Amino acid sequence: MYLGCHAWIFDLDGTLTVPMHDFAGLKAQLGLPLDRDVLAGIETRPEAERDGLRVAVRAWEVEHVENARPAPHAGSLLGWLRGAGCEVGILTRNTRATALETLERIGLRQAFAADDVLGRECASPKPSPAGVLALLGRWGTPPERAVVVGDYVHDLEAGRAAGARTIWLDHDGSGRFAGHADRVIRGLGELLDHQANASSQV
Ligand SMILES: [Mg+2]
Repeated sequence: MYLGCHAWIFDLDGTLTVPMHDFAGLKAQLGLPLDRDVLAGIETRPEAERDGLRVAVRAWEVEHVENARPAPHAGSLLGWLRGAGCEVGILTRNTRATALETLERIGLRQAFAADDVLGRECASPKPSPAGVLALLGRWGTPPERAVVVGDYVHDLEAGRAAGARTIWLDHDGSGRFAGHADRVIRGLGELLDHQANASSQV
């Protein structure tokens, strides 16, 4: 197993799905600050506006579920990990309900126990390590045997803060979050290749 990791925690949007969320476009549309994430941006607005903004963000998220597509090799990788006896979970800044719908839509719902899919209402959202620690606590896995896989710096910060390893899915090869990751990949297929090589060497 990669770096001896027994527990694998995945971001969902843009990691197990093909990236399509245009966060900058959403922030511009809602008049939110571009230099903060969407949820933090809402908190900077007057209280009277916040509920309306949250409703708009929810509508945007739900709209994206229908168009979600699985990332290449996501199904094979999850199948391999489960077959190897690894724990697998999802930690998303989306809502848990939307995450479960998205997993259903992309054909990966069966790869995860329902309790192992955490949304922003289940624990303090990433970059807080709370969700990572909650999953590891459920599984009884120490952080040093866990890895967090994601396409954004918040995923990596959450993993590091929890004491886990981190793998950054660098879609465009920019390298900009490489300093937060133990490993940088361009696609999930690289992990699958690594797993297959590791098992053939055993
Ligand atoms: Mg993501």
